[in-house]
This record gives sequence, structure tokens and C-alpha cells, in this order.
Amino acid sequence: MSSESLEKIKSAIVKKLPKRVQLANIEFEGSEVVIYTKNPEIITENGDLIRNLAKDLRKRIIVRSDKTVLLDQEKTIEKIHEIVPKEAEITNIGFNDVTSEVRIESKKPGIVIGKYGVTSREIVKNTGWAPKILRTPPIPSKIIEKIRHILKQSSEDRKQFLLSFGKRIHQEVNHENDWARLTSMGGFREVGRSCMLLQTPNSRVMIDCGVNVAGNDPKSSFPYLNVPEFSLEELDAVVISHAHLDHCGFLPYLYHYGYDGPVFCTTPTRDLMTLLQLDHIDIAHREDNPLPFDTKNVQKTVERTITLDYGEVTNIAQDIKLTLHNAGHILGSSIAHLHIGDGQHNMVYTGDFKFERSRLLDPATSKFPRLETLVMESTYGGHDDVQPSRNTSEKKLMKTIYQTLKQKGKVLIPVFAVGRAQELMVVLEEYMRHGMIDEVPIHIDGMIWEATAIHTARPEYLSKDLRDQIFHAGRNPFISDAFHKVTNPNKRKDIIEGEPSIILSTSGMLTGGNSVEYFKALCDDEKNTLIFVGYQSEGSLGRRIQKGWTEIPLMKDGKTKVFHVKMNIQTIEGFSGHSNRRQLMDYVKRLSTKPEKIITCHGDPHKTVDLASSIHKSLKIETKTPLNLECTRIQ
Ligand SMILES: [Zn+2]
Repeated sequence: MSSESLEKIKSAIVKKLPKRVQLANIEFEGSEVVIYTKNPEIITENGDLIRNLAKDLRKRIIVRSDKTVLLDQEKTIEKIHEIVPKEAEITNIGFNDVTSEVRIESKKPGIVIGKYGVTSREIVKNTGWAPKILRTPPIPSKIIEKIRHILKQSSEDRKQFLLSFGKRIHQEVNHENDWARLTSMGGFREVGRSCMLLQTPNSRVMIDCGVNVAGNDPKSSFPYLNVPEFSLEELDAVVISHAHLDHCGFLPYLYHYGYDGPVFCTTPTRDLMTLLQLDHIDIAHREDNPLPFDTKNVQKTVERTITLDYGEVTNIAQDIKLTLHNAGHILGSSIAHLHIGDGQHNMVYTGDFKFERSRLLDPATSKFPRLETLVMESTYGGHDDVQPSRNTSEKKLMKTIYQTLKQKGKVLIPVFAVGRAQELMVVLEEYMRHGMIDEVPIHIDGMIWEATAIHTARPEYLSKDLRDQIFHAGRNPFISDAFHKVTNPNKRKDIIEGEPSIILSTSGMLTGGNSVEYFKALCDDEKNTLIFVGYQSEGSLGRRIQKGWTEIPLMKDGKTKVFHVKMNIQTIEGFSGHSNRRQLMDYVKRLSTKPEKIITCHGDPHKTVDLASSIHKSLKIETKTPLNLECTRIQ
């Protein structure tokens, strides 16, 4: 049986490195190989050396200096300022003694790296410190600062964790990989609390760990962690597809109950998920309905998260390799490809995905060299789930806004903080810049601003169009003067009483938050317009208004008051982050490898079944629509 034991890898490295390299140590931090040397410049100057070694070993290789050759910290800072051109706008330099890394935060990280990495190599050569180059976001982000702080504080503990995880995944495989099975723990034939367990004879990996935010009790809100297949002690790793709470909201609970292993996701998913998890805890406290975990567990989650770029292959268990690909749903959202054993089985989980270009993101990836089982979402999998084209939707949005502003009214758009809000910001900025709608202030209220800051910190995850705008045309739509951050109640009062404007505010379904306060203040004036751009779930205030309720009792100053809805109400579909029915079917057709089996999940029961049966009929692929608690053998 094949194995990648640590000793074998070490001796392969020693054999391949030139004799001149003074090797101090070789360590395994998770699936990455770290080479410590007394003369790092020899390795860094010869770029091919590491590239070839990485290719041969199929491992990521990191080179660090032995502590004895590191330049004094103050001198290093001076040296860095000498080497890096001023245009890079360095905002902070910090050191990590545990990893011999120097963190350089800069507004233009590309300049710190230099062409083909020449500048960062120069830093290693002159100081011994390995540069870790981070972007200073154009909009400061409290969450990113917090995460960087947590990681700095916990660097020694994190290193120990990575070393022990490295040992675990490089163990000899004990059993032949002759089967694999998937247990549905949440989000099957329903939307919310997505969670599943992938088991092989050698390992157990959880994929997504969400909550159902609309659930009324723990039984319907949280995944079935009590299935007989699942035990926290045996869990090797967790993979998170994206930051929405129905995919990651229950993750901190695992740490509360003693899980100490890794979580794999993209960097933006880590950032956005931390923001949403902390907000979830906060809201639950305010509503006097506390969650079974707290902020300490969110911090632990950050400490145990290993981030991956799209396309980067990594071992997450002894016999499972993970690659994340763009899902086109929200920033950092991913489709997970899991490669079991020596290729005995390949499973792809789509998470939530959009198979169409949006303003914000490129369409989901459909190219996989190997694929036997596809697990796909079916939110809009019903045969009548047709949505208007994006172009039509944008035109309708602009016409509605144009008319409202013309009659001196205000436009209120309730949105989810992550995803739709930024999509609309890009659309509004463009139309305003081209003079298609009047130049009025666009007020950004609630958590949307912080979520937008995270988008500006990770531009490499945005669509090609946006990247071109930001990197080549030097125009970042998110930092346009059109947007105004709303931070306090006085400002809100001014907005309500002030001139015509556009207001983006959470929550997206008017289930609480400031969007409800704006609604109360604006609803009785027919000049104003309320525009829904996202899904309104049954029971939400948004859904009631959509249904045409004109008298709505709501709390005001501690008393119930009836609000009369006279404002114009519009619903504009087509801005969804999910694929519609046609795109779901197209996705299966366009897959570069035809899967043997397709499992549908994440959708109302009839939609999940409808999509599965259509795929079976028209594409002749075996399909399954398991219920929660069911177990499916995939190999
Ligand atoms: Zn989602």
C-alpha cells in the first residue's frame, strides 16, 4: 500500500538539495513541508529547485531560515524599507519568531513581491526572514485585524497543532480503501444546517456544519451530530464550502465539545465566517436565546483553520486530498473536490453555486479531471424555477430607482450583508457613474460595510472584470464616494428626514436589524420604494409585505403600533447567488467528466426530487435524494 511517510519524504529532500545547502531541519506543518536552512539564499535564488521538488513530492514546500542566521529585527525593518519601493505603501511590519517570518502589510502587496518574486527574495537574502506579505485593505476591516491578532498570539500553539496534524496525515494507511460512504446530517431535502460526513476505512471528514437560522428549536436548527456514524474523537478534518451560516454556523460548537482538529476553507471564507458567527452569537444574546457556544469557540475555530487557495491540492486526512474550486456564489465560496486513496474514488460537493457570471464573481468551475460522485445543491431545482436574465433584472432595478428618485422619494433595499449587498453596490456604482441614475448618496448600513471591507482585502477572489478594474484601471468600485457608511442612530434619523437617497440595510428579509427601522419610517409615503432582491422566507415580514399586507403591527417605543404600507413595493428576481433550474441542468451537462452518481441536496423536498429525476431522465445518470440521517454508499 502506498504511503507518504515522513522519513521517506525527508530522505528524498536531502538527496535532491545541492550539497551547499546547509540543512538545519525538515518539519511537516500539516501537509506542508518546511525546510530550515542556514543559507536560505541558495534555495530562494534557485526558484526551479523548490518548484521541481514540490512537483516530485506533490507537496507545498516552504523554506525558512535557521534562527542563528536571522538579522536583528530593527535592522530588518530598515533593510525592508531600503529594498521595497515606496509606492508599495507599507503600513505595518511585524515578526513571528516561531516561524522566522516577517509580516509585511502593504497597500500594494504586488510591489513587495516584485516581478517574479525578485523583491521578496531580496528580503530573504539580506535579512534571513521569510516575508509573509499581506494586503492592507483600502477599507479597514476590524475582523481581519482581529484574525491577524489571534493568529499572532497563538503562533506557538498553532505550530504545535500543525506539527501533530502533519504527523497524523503522514501515517501509514492501515486499511485498503475499498469503500466510501456519505452520511446526511443536515440540509438534505431541506435548506439550512448543511452537514455531511464522508467516511472511508481510514478516515472521517465532515463537510459543512451549518445551522438553520429559521429553526425554532435546537432539533430543527442544528445538524444531527448524534448519528451513530459520527464521533467527535474520530473526526479527522472539517471542510467548509462558504461563509453563510447555514453552512458554517454550527462549527464553533465542535470546538466547544472538544474537537481540536483542522478546518479547511478559503481565506475569504474564514474572514466572512468569523464575522457572521460572531454576529450570530451577538444577535442570539440580544434576543435572549443564547447559542450552545460562545466567542471563545469562534476564536479557537480561527486558530485551527487552514486556508487554501483555489486549485491548491492538500492532504486533509491520511487517505483524502482536498482541492477547492470557485463556486461563484459568494466571495471565497468553493466547490470541494475530494480525492480518496490512490484515486479509488473522487467526490465533488458543489456547496451553493452559481453557474453564471455575476458582477462580483466568475461562474462556478465545471472542470474536474476525476469525478465519480457529485453532490449538488438544488435550491432552485424545480422545473418552474426560471429567473429573468441579469440584464433584464438590472434594467428593472434602475428604472425603479430612477422613477423613485425623480419623484423625490427614497429607495430602501433590504439585503443580506454578504454577497447580494456587494453585487448591488457594484451595479449601482456603475449606473451612477454613467449617469443612468441621479447622483444621490447610497447609504450602507449595518454589517454590510464590514463585509465589503473584507471584499476589498481579497480582490484576487473577485470576478475577472472587477480585478481588471481594480488592478489595471486603478478604480475600485467599493471605495467610490457614492457610498456612505452609516454608524449611529443620529445618522439614520438624518437619512430618514433628508434628501432622496438609496439605502442598503440588513436584515435581508426584514426579520430584524435596521432595515425594519427604515421600513417603519418610510412605509407610509407613496413616494418611497421598497425593493426586494433576495429570497423572502415564509413567516418573515418581507414575505408578508410581498403578499400585499397593507397594515402591519410592529413594535415602536415599547408598544405595538399598526404601520400603514403606502410605499411602492417591488420584487426584482435575478440577483440570486444560486443557479436557476436551467443552470443546474447545464452544469451537469457541461461537467468535464460525467459522474457515475449524483446526489441532490439543499432544496425544498419537491425541488430536490424534481431535479434528481430530470437529471436521471435526460442524462441517464443514477441519482439519489437522501433524507437527513440516511447513509449512502458512494464507492
Ligand atoms: Zn449560501
